[in-house]
Amino acid sequence: MFRDVQEQFLKKGDCIVKVLSREGDMYSMVVGQQKLISDKPIVDTYRVSFDSVVRECHCECILFQSKAILCCHMLSAFAYFEVNEVSTCYISSRWNKNVKRKHTYIKSCHDVNHSDESNNLYRGLCNHFFNVAQDFVRNIEEASILHSAMDGAQTTLHDHRASKDQSFHQGSTDQKKTWRRFGQDN
Ligand SMILES: [Zn+2]
Repeated sequence: MFRDVQEQFLKKGDCIVKVLSREGDMYSMVVGQQKLISDKPIVDTYRVSFDSVVRECHCECILFQSKAILCCHMLSAFAYFEVNEVSTCYISSRWNKNVKRKHTYIKSCHDVNHSDESNNLYRGLCNHFFNVAQDFVRNIEEASILHSAMDGAQTTLHDHRASKDQSFHQGSTDQKKTWRRFGQDN
């Protein structure tokens, strides 16, 4: 899911907002998203509406309704209207209402063929993450901070695993050399 959120933030860079009309506090706009289809650049357009009083958006791609993820078109509209803090209706459904259910879902997926120790480690990590997300993430900016911290942790873990693999291979090469020498000595 975090990859999906991150993807929308990246895609936001390919979007251009154009306001078509305004009725009172309600803006109607079209968001053009540049895409590459078979190496050919095309622009897909999406109708987006924005209420400047309650600061709520609606996009016809309905990614938010289907996956509870803010789509790149809505993110572009928020940026266009300089909305730095999104309405709680976008945050609460992702971070609060479903937290328990999602956590249980992750846990039950992980339970299969895993030791108690590994399950405890995993559960501890999930609790830690959800507590941080629930207590500290209230807007897009704070969500980005958490994303970049996770990216950093991912890189560190990747490097850690790579260096462990390397020392493992180094160890087995040394052992082979020892065996070869042992064979020559005898
Ligand atoms: Zn959209």
